[in-house]
Amino acid sequence: MAVVVMKFGGTSVASIDRIRNVARHVKREIDAANQVAVVVSAMAGHTNQLVAWVREAALLHDAREYDAVVASGEQVTAGLLAIALQSMGIPARSWQGWQIPIVTDNAHGAARILEVRADDIRQRLSQGEVAVVTGFQGLEPDRNRVSTLGRGGSDTSAVAIAIALGADVCDIYTDVDGVYTSDPRIVPTARRLPRISYEEMLEMASLGSKVLQTRSVELAMVYRMRTRVLSSFADAEAVQPVRSGSEWQDIGTIVCDEEEIVESQVVSGIAYAKDEAKVTIVKVADKPGVAASIFGPLAEASINVDMIVQNLSADGKHTDMTFTVVASELPKTLEVLQAASNGIGYSEIKSSADVVKVSVIGVGMRSHAGVAAQMFRALAEKGINILAITTSEIKISVLINAAYAELAVRTLHTLYGLDKD
Ligand code: ADP
Ligand code: ASP
Ligand code: MG
Repeated sequence: MAVVVMKFGGTSVASIDRIRNVARHVKREIDAANQVAVVVSAMAGHTNQLVAWVREAALLHDAREYDAVVASGEQVTAGLLAIALQSMGIPARSWQGWQIPIVTDNAHGAARILEVRADDIRQRLSQGEVAVVTGFQGLEPDRNRVSTLGRGGSDTSAVAIAIALGADVCDIYTDVDGVYTSDPRIVPTARRLPRISYEEMLEMASLGSKVLQTRSVELAMVYRMRTRVLSSFADAEAVQPVRSGSEWQDIGTIVCDEEEIVESQVVSGIAYAKDEAKVTIVKVADKPGVAASIFGPLAEASINVDMIVQNLSADGKHTDMTFTVVASELPKTLEVLQAASNGIGYSEIKSSADVVKVSVIGVGMRSHAGVAAQMFRALAEKGINILAITTSEIKISVLINAAYAELAVRTLHTLYGLDKD
């Protein structure tokens, strides 16, 4: 008998029919005598609609009320799935974040899970009842309010619950049958990766592959929670139920330790992120302290700066400073720089959200030289100009004009031998 956490995303619960299909996946595990906790997202598009209504009500709104509204989508699907399971003769009960509770900090809209008090659920599971848990939601205990975990946060709910329950596996069911070498929606030749290391998945997620929320991978990595990504669209009976300690059927992707991956390539995947914005501060003094005068005020305003490029100084006295921030923070960034203009001293500020960050990721880069050089050459051959570069041990990211995003991703996918045969 195994303890299994199964998470179903928005498209997997988009209609009553789809919810019945989810119930069949759950039944398979129950029939195999497993204990099952299910985590559900809101129906596809529902959270977007809720967010749009909040914005329409007031562009600047109270974050606690934003959470009160957007957390509601998951309540619907959790109840519906519990009903679908019951009507198949499977004992099931829905649980909202506050009922468990899943305790979070007070960063409404992007809260972090502090603790999952899973005792009640654990007891119900041992009695053969399925716990259907709302993803995305938590409880902020100081003010006793509902909190949400940021977009895509149901993945994180699932991994956190799996850790709290000491589950054998956390299965993330979605609309693709695994993690691919690149987003299959824009790279038709992308291949499913049977396994990917926690480190690589973490980079892929944080660099734009939204198949898993970054925080969920972070948690899985820290607690070594075996996490699988697989399709809910597969026939429920064609999937083998989870069995403790047995071999895994080669469906989906297993996120696991690097040592468990036999065949690995230098580059495992290509990610892209469209939510970047570029800021250039023109003609700042080329002297010690200028970077601090720019990035100090931004840090104080909690604005995360990603890529930074300082141009060569033509006259030895002045230079331009270019950096990127998340596009949604561009207005705030410009405000902060305006307010700090006396301290910085510049002639003008240019900005553009018409950029994307394209990244190549692979643990093999640790032991292979020349990956970056190959990348820059291939992009140059396609006439793609690189606006900024950052690297770490297992990734290289470049900032380019948004118009070239797909061309760049496909070019690099072919360059590193990732195209399927
Ligand atoms: P869910 O609603 O189930 O949480 P998401 O839309 O959040 O689903 O995530 C699944 C989507 O992630 C896929 O449809 C795919 O377009 C996208 N995606 C981006 N990068 C990748 C990748 N490398 N591998 C698989 N899917 C990816
Ligand atoms: N429903 C939430 C969202 O759309 C959470 C999730 O799907 O993971 O962001
Ligand atoms: Mg998702």
